[in-house]
Amino acid sequence: MTRDALLHIVGSGPAGLAAAHAALDAGAAVCLIDDNHAPGGQIWRGGPGRWTDARATRMWTALHDHPRFTHLAGTQVIGCADANTLLVEAADGGATIPFQRLLLCTGARELSLPFPGWTLPGVTGAGGLQALIKGGMPVRDRTVVVAGTGPLLLATAATALQAGARVAAIVEHQPWSRLGGFGLALLARHKAKFAQAVSLFAALRTVPYVTGARIVAAAGDDILRGVTVTVQGRETHYACDFLGAGFGLVPNTDLGRALGCATADGAILVDAMQKTSRANVWAAGECTGIGGVDKAVAEGRRAALAALGLHPAARDAPALRAAHAFAGLLARTFAPNDALKTMYRPDTIVCRCEDVTAAQLLPHRDWREAKLATRVGMGPCQGKTCGPACAFLFGWTPPDSRIPILPASARALSSIE
Ligand SMILES: Cc1cc2nc3c(=O)[nH]c(=O)nc-3n(C[C@H](O)[C@H](O)[C@H](O)COP(=O)(O)OP(=O)(O)OC[C@H]3O[C@@H](n4cnc5c(N)ncnc54)[C@H](O)[C@@H]3O)c2cc1C
Repeated sequence: MTRDALLHIVGSGPAGLAAAHAALDAGAAVCLIDDNHAPGGQIWRGGPGRWTDARATRMWTALHDHPRFTHLAGTQVIGCADANTLLVEAADGGATIPFQRLLLCTGARELSLPFPGWTLPGVTGAGGLQALIKGGMPVRDRTVVVAGTGPLLLATAATALQAGARVAAIVEHQPWSRLGGFGLALLARHKAKFAQAVSLFAALRTVPYVTGARIVAAAGDDILRGVTVTVQGRETHYACDFLGAGFGLVPNTDLGRALGCATADGAILVDAMQKTSRANVWAAGECTGIGGVDKAVAEGRRAALAALGLHPAARDAPALRAAHAFAGLLARTFAPNDALKTMYRPDTIVCRCEDVTAAQLLPHRDWREAKLATRVGMGPCQGKTCGPACAFLFGWTPPDSRIPILPASARALSSIE
């Protein structure tokens, strides 16, 4: 079955690369599609020359010039024409790609929560700041603060420090007691992760790690000048040039939902073999639930084999179990809590594309009513940023996924036959 099978994979992060590698190993032909120009997704951003994780290099070495491997880089999947045909846009225009078996490895996005000043130039998501630095944005001798909640704050601070920035503070919302419990659980059940955390903290030993803290406001004139945070009622101001504010990740389910895949708890719903509710569509990695790189790799392998009608190797099962246990621990420790719902003020912008403030949204009962009255979610990002924020702040069901799921040029759309 596998020799002539063609598996299409969307997303070349850890899940997509692991899936492509497993499928190729099993004798199938693979087409890997990603909107970035280099493979690697979020954690392995920057491409093969910059990877430090041996898994990425090993997989890409086996893949990149293999005759059964096609890499469509710089190609965004903007939706589907029918149940078995993807719509894509690349530099040379739009096209359709029919598929027999499709694996979604579309990753996650950051949860951006509004606070006064969050739309100032210089304020980004924590992961966004990391991506900019990895992409070459100079931060040498500039001052950075990372704030919010989750391990991504530490990773971003380490990237900034390595790039020559001064990191004035890491401002973590969770209290020290909870973080201590997280550390002990890592030591007891996830020793490799514990070792990673220890070496990360060692690299960040000169940086103040403020816990149980919350952003009050970012301030500046035309650009960011600093951020004020509060810890147990006491406010501290940090002057800074860049603020990376991250409150965790949300699965990127846009393509899955456009294809009609069922979702649960904001993630693409999959069975034990990573199969979605749609025939011939599987999903793996962060789009099925936030859990980090090991979950993405383990699920990617399993999904590829399942899509090809093969059984996953028994030796892979413990890694998957451990990755899912770690995902649960992450969610229990770092889930944004209600205190983060009080960061915005009435005049704080919530939808930055359409300049819609919290006061304009508060009178409405749901997303649809608010959208009709205020244009929330109707700008270029189509609710990808403010939709999850409104879901968290007001409990609204996020907007439907509409085609094109990403901004596409009229030229590309008109060239699709
Ligand atoms: C901004 C950001 C930074 C992060 N940094 C770290 C870090 O430093 N350390 C860490 O442990 N974890 C980090 N993470 C968490 C990270 O998501 C996982 O650890 C890991 O990268 C997940 O792998 P994945 O394959 O599931 O998804 P990803 O690595 O996110 O890969 C998904 C890929 O799919 C592509 N894609 C999505 N939709 C489409 C489409 N419609 N068309 C074409 N391509 C598409 C994306 O561009 C991306 O390349 C970060 C997450 C984010 C959002």
